[in-house]
Order: sequence, then structure tokens, then C-alpha cells
Amino acid sequence: MDSQTTKLAEAGRAEVKTSPVANAMIRVEELHKYYELGEARVHALRGVSLDIRIGDFVAIMGASGSGKSTFMNILGCLDKPTSGKYLLEGVDVSKHDKKSLALIRNQKIGFVFQGFNLLARTTAQENTELPTLYTKISRPEREKRAADSLAMVGLAERAHHFPSQMSGGQQQRVAIARALVNRPSILLADEPTGNLDSRTAVEIMEIFQQLNDAGLTIVLVTHEHDIAEYAKRVLVFRDGKIRKDDSVANRPRANEVLKTLPTLED
Ligand code: ADP
Ligand code: MG
Repeated sequence: MDSQTTKLAEAGRAEVKTSPVANAMIRVEELHKYYELGEARVHALRGVSLDIRIGDFVAIMGASGSGKSTFMNILGCLDKPTSGKYLLEGVDVSKHDKKSLALIRNQKIGFVFQGFNLLARTTAQENTELPTLYTKISRPEREKRAADSLAMVGLAERAHHFPSQMSGGQQQRVAIARALVNRPSILLADEPTGNLDSRTAVEIMEIFQQLNDAGLTIVLVTHEHDIAEYAKRVLVFRDGKIRKDDSVANRPRANEVLKTLPTLED
């Protein structure tokens, strides 16, 4: 990490609200993305500009094909914009090459997907350790971090279970633990509750709210209004542009909502 980035990260932790730049985890300016499909060109993002501050919790909604995943892939350094600027913790990553993007991704970004994407013949502990294998972290430290991450999502007791021995909600919690293990600056989740029943979805939102309360910046894609309401801010995409950007008034606390929902045994 360069000194500017270190300073920005420290400013975030101490919640020093000095200048708007120091608080910008993400700044994108006039992002455009074209996909080339033979003769055809798809204009998937059509000028997206946005700031996401340290500690924010953003939900992205919008119809299928509106550009949500394209935008998330760029935020996550999985893809590059065709044009426009992307500053991540003050560093312009829009022109970095693939290798350098992979490094940034591994250090700064945690991903959670709809389909959990766990390795089947691998325990919760080993799945969680995976992202640390590409770092210089020592083995004991790696094991400790994985155990800590599993504890954060309430799965300390399941460390030696395989995915097939866990429910969908537990598997998604392992995926969240894996996303946290390198202590990222931002957590990106693309429809993380899409495969889960409604109570389990709220349990996942409870974990996201706890992580966000502890200072983690989160960006979540969902097509469900009641899931988006757990965030602090809701963006609506349409035809590759942001059409709405509202803060959530009176957002529900997932731990309170869970008390009102029937459990599986009921
Ligand atoms: P969403 O996640 O909101 O459903 P996407 O970002 O996946 O939307 O897609 C936006 C547009 O870009 C759509 O028209 C989609 O068909 C197109 N698209 C997405 N990914 C690709 C790709 N890899 N190649 C070509 N077109 C793509
Ligand atoms: Mg999508």
C-alpha cells in the first residue's frame, strides 16, 4: 500500500470526516462499457458517475440487463471500463493491467455471489483460507484468520464441515467468511440472497449490517426491494445509467426483523 492509500484507510477506520476525497472509497466518473459481439456492440454502461464513501452500504437494483453486473465487475477489478475513470481508495485503477488488477482485487476486494462458489471436497475452514494462499501470510496466521472470519459469520463450530453437510445459508456464510479473510476494504455481493429462502436471506442481511456497523463498505446487487432496504442507500440502474440514488429512511434492523419471522421448526 502506498502512503496515500494507508492514510486514507486509517482515516476510514478512525471515521475522520475531513474532506470528501478522504472519505471516498470509490469514485467513478463517466464510465462506459461496450461489449463487442461480432458485428454488434452492446453499450452496457452509458456514463455512470458515483462516489461511495467509506462505511457506506449501497444496494443496486434495476431490471435484468440494466448493467448491474457489468458495473460490479468493474468495481471488483474483474473487468475494465471501455472509457471513464475508476478511483479505488484514491488510486486510479482504470488503466492498470490484468496482473496488477488481480493483486488489487486480492488485497482490497471481497466477493460474494449468488451461487456460493465453494469447493465441494473442501472444508469450511479450507474454503475460507483459499484467498490467503496468494499472499505472503504465514500458515498459522492464515489458519487464525480463517477461524476468525468463520466466527464473524457465526460458523466457528462448522469449520470442519464440507459444503454438502451445510444448508444454503451456512454455505453463503462460508462464502462471506472467505470474502473477509484478506481483510478487504470493500465487500461486493451480486445477488447474494437470490438462492435463499426469505428468513435465511434476512439472516445474511443481519451479517452484512453487523459488518457494515463495524466499518466495512458494502455494495450489494439485489432485485428484491425488502432486501435493498437493509442498506443505507439504494441505486436504481436502467439502460446502463443510474436513474435513482436515494438514502433509505427508517431502514429495518435485520436482527429485529428476525424476531418476527418464523423459524424452520415452526
Ligand atoms: P444485469 O446484471 O443488470 O442483468 P449485465 O451487466 O449483466 O446486466 O448486462 C448489461 C448488458 O450487457 C446486457 O445487454 C447484457 O446482455 C450485456 N452483456 C453483459 N455481459 C456481456 C458479455 N460478457 N458479452 C456481451 N454482452 C454482455
Ligand atoms: Mg446481473
